[in-house]
Amino acid sequence: MPITDPEKKRIAQQARLHMRICFNCGARNDINATRCRKCKNPYLRLKNRTLGAKK
Ligand SMILES: [Zn+2]
Repeated sequence: MPITDPEKKRIAQQARLHMRICFNCGARNDINATRCRKCKNPYLRLKNRTLGAKK
C-alpha cells in the first residue's frame, strides 16, 4: 500500500533512516545519542541513506 501523502511519507522516512548505528554492536540509537545505549560505545555512525538509492 503506497503512501500518497508526501508529508506522512517524509515523516516515515525520517523515522526509519535518521538514526545512529553503533560501530561496535550495531544497535540503533537515537539521532541525538552520543553513546550506544547497549554497550556505551561512543563511536556511532549516522544511518542516512539517500532516498531512492535502493537496489
Ligand atoms: Zn553498541
